[in-house]
Amino acid sequence: MLSVTEALNHCLSSVPEVQLETIRIEDADGRILAEDVCAPTPLPPWDNSAMDGYAVLDTDLGTATDTDCFSQGENPQGDGVVLRVLETIAAGSVPTEAITTGTCARIMTGAPLPEGATAVIMREETSDLDDNRVRIHAGARPGQHIRRRGEEVPQGSVVLRRGIELSAPAIGLCAAVGRQTVKVGRRPTVGIVSTGDEIVPPGQPLGPGQIHSSNTHALSAWVRSCGAIPVDCGIAPDDLTATRAAFQRAIACDVVMSTGGVSVGDFDVVRQALIEEGAQMGFWKVRMKPGKPLAFGIIGGRPAFGLPGNPVSCQVGFLQFVRPFLRQFMGASEPFLPIIYATASEDIRKRGGRAEFVRVRLDWAEDGVRATTTGSQSSGQQTSMVHADGLMLLAPEQREVPAGSRVAVQQLHGGAQHPGYTW
Ligand code: AMP
Ligand code: MG
Repeated sequence: MLSVTEALNHCLSSVPEVQLETIRIEDADGRILAEDVCAPTPLPPWDNSAMDGYAVLDTDLGTATDTDCFSQGENPQGDGVVLRVLETIAAGSVPTEAITTGTCARIMTGAPLPEGATAVIMREETSDLDDNRVRIHAGARPGQHIRRRGEEVPQGSVVLRRGIELSAPAIGLCAAVGRQTVKVGRRPTVGIVSTGDEIVPPGQPLGPGQIHSSNTHALSAWVRSCGAIPVDCGIAPDDLTATRAAFQRAIACDVVMSTGGVSVGDFDVVRQALIEEGAQMGFWKVRMKPGKPLAFGIIGGRPAFGLPGNPVSCQVGFLQFVRPFLRQFMGASEPFLPIIYATASEDIRKRGGRAEFVRVRLDWAEDGVRATTTGSQSSGQQTSMVHADGLMLLAPEQREVPAGSRVAVQQLHGGAQHPGYTW
């Protein structure tokens, strides 16, 4: 039986090359960038003011401050320095005059710095005498409140690397360097086949012994949450012909994924159906809990994941194998869920031999993040998954996790809610 790592590497070795798609940046949130985005021009494009204020020569002001006032030039009250205002430069306009000694320009945040200016004085440190004269109450360091051409992004540099997930700030940066479109990895479609004589879709009345197909819907949502496109390929009864027919429908998608029927029960036909459909089977069991029965093969050139039927096993199997596959398919340079370290808040015991994924809630405590199990770890207990912020990762050989020990937790959602600001 393969270890989790061996099984994962096996799956990832079948990920096809990223296929590119060009999309508008308006549609790019959550997509994986498939090119390096460069800045054709520097950012900022020219020296500009970081404040509303006055562009000056710092040498005109010396060390003038509110408390250290001095008299100079045409300063009538002997308080600060009076300069002649040449013009007002609004953001979006261009300065027309150079600053020379004794002069300045009123300037707005983001407006290009006039030639000669070596510093900007904040409006709050000045008082207007009239339209053409301003009193400056502060000294200036050379370069103060000036944003230099190219200081954030030098011309031609790479601002975003391929493989990142495009987020709001990244999309903003694309726009800042003038991009309207970006190349991203194509989103795979995932054909979902549910199996089981007892499984009916929600909305349909339950006959004796029947249950609703929760897996179809949980898997659809997980597929969508990692950026891929779910396709419901229906529910196949536990019958070889029907299951094969469902797989034939699913191979129209980029990835085939089934749930249930993959174990050793009398009516578990998924493995046989995959083989009869010509699948090259990679593995059909993984040394993990929950989710030991888990098949992977290639069918009609498509990767096929046979996930277990128990709702928790099914979702944990998806998260460990299908999710990284889908993320890598789209070109993500970091296809795995983030891991954080937490402190176990209770003793946990396990058997040796299989890796375990323990559903835990994460809470903030004074000493950092605490991980607490979400109750019964039965693989049929869907509620334990609903309340889980993460999966505690326990190695096969581990047997005891004493309360207080440091544990790795794979994060499923945003994570622990911090109590909030303390100031
Ligand atoms: P199986 O892997 O087919 O033996 O199923 C294991 C358990 O998961 C059984 O209790 C099934 O009823 C349940 N199960 C299988 N498929 C689904 C599904 N689509 N939704 C909810 N439960 C399921
Ligand atoms: Mg079944």
